[in-house]
Amino acid sequence: MPQTKILLDENEIPTHWYNVVADMPNPPAPPLGPDGQPVGPDALAAIFPEALIEQEMSAERWIKIPDPVREALNMWRPSPLIRAHRLEQALGTPARIYYKYEGVSPAGSHKPNTAVAQAYYNQQAGIKRLSTETGAGQWGSSLALAGQMFGLEVRVYMVKVSYEQKPFRRSMMHTWGAEVLASPSDQTEAGRSILAAHPDSQGSLGIAISEAVEEAASRDDTNYSLGSVLNHVLLHQTVIGQEAQKQFEKIGEYPDVVYAPCGGGSNFGGVAFPFFADKAAGKEVRLVAVEPTSCPTLTKGHYAYDFGDAIGMTPLMLMYTLGHDFMPPGIHAGGLRYHGDSALVSQLYHEGLIEARAVPQLGTFEAGVQFARAEGIIPAPESNHAIRAVIDDALACKESGESQVLFFNLSGHGHFDMAAYDRYFAGELEDFDYPEEAIEEALAHLPKVDAPA
Ligand SMILES: *Cc1c(COP(=O)(O)O)cnc(C)c1O
Repeated sequence: MPQTKILLDENEIPTHWYNVVADMPNPPAPPLGPDGQPVGPDALAAIFPEALIEQEMSAERWIKIPDPVREALNMWRPSPLIRAHRLEQALGTPARIYYKYEGVSPAGSHKPNTAVAQAYYNQQAGIKRLSTETGAGQWGSSLALAGQMFGLEVRVYMVKVSYEQKPFRRSMMHTWGAEVLASPSDQTEAGRSILAAHPDSQGSLGIAISEAVEEAASRDDTNYSLGSVLNHVLLHQTVIGQEAQKQFEKIGEYPDVVYAPCGGGSNFGGVAFPFFADKAAGKEVRLVAVEPTSCPTLTKGHYAYDFGDAIGMTPLMLMYTLGHDFMPPGIHAGGLRYHGDSALVSQLYHEGLIEARAVPQLGTFEAGVQFARAEGIIPAPESNHAIRAVIDDALACKESGESQVLFFNLSGHGHFDMAAYDRYFAGELEDFDYPEEAIEEALAHLPKVDAPA
């Protein structure tokens, strides 16, 4: 029987983060300020520590991971690479399927990989509090954990619909000592303005970001922390792909295709960018970001400058976007409901160097259940998007007789998403293609700027 779990020692946790900017054929488009000019480091200093701003703008290929951050990562890393023998058998496919399992972190997803780094740098900069947003609660719980580890207070603006539907993610944040508010809240100008216009607003990630940024910008002791999208966040997640490269090397395999669910792009960038370095050096490997048909940012959005939040407080980023006032339908993959996407992922997609695919909700739950029955682990609804794409391609291999190596990032477990699985079993979930007109409507509100030459 070939090996099932490919494990590394703690001393094989990467010593450096990998910065994809060093291998991109074109430099990343700069974020722009309200005047249409590129924003400098100073504009970000009100809400981020200097070390993270440097990483955000860096073109260095390798950035050293500070020892206290590696010691924090030791608690759950290296994460296992697992061969999905049983899933292969259930599908009757000649494809060899592997997954990296990020559900082994205390919060149950990849998100603590960046949370501990961000908490560390803020603590080093003398910051006492962090404000942030959370959708489904995965990021809020990860930052609550990291805040506890590095002695920072954490306040989380949680999208109201999740605040009500996901009480146990809230309980996790409380257990790790964080304060949690339903967003839109009456604590910020941004929240009050949304409530005045839409008293029944169920919230959105974009609104919660506006609230958290406003709070950080208005208090000296408080910084803002974002769980995805930004360059430094993707950078911190590259421990995933680097470990996977070592694990594949140990067994003499190499993936033909790398898949990850894609919301803001951090777990996709984390697993795929180290393989992009191989691709840039001439290796053949396909990198596929998988998103919901209900929030089809890469596959149906426009490549344009847009705000990262709902109100328009953040710098403008050149990215695929559905429009910053996009109101996502209530699908059960909260982590994939963001209107935009990482600028790095967007640019690589725009230049044809990575691929994107959209899959409908029902098919993702069907794939997740099939995976759980074969492999045991119950995946997060977000992760089910990658699993859908892998199963589709493994079935195509069965047709063609090809034995491709398919590798995906199992970004988290679904232990706090069982109500969504229950609704799937009860036949209450629906497929939802975000309507073309709604996309056009939201895109009509894009800020008008010319991309700099
Ligand atoms: C947040 C989340 C995602 C999506 O976010 P990215 O920034 O695209 O990584 C995917 N899977 C899980 C389990 C998540 O918590």
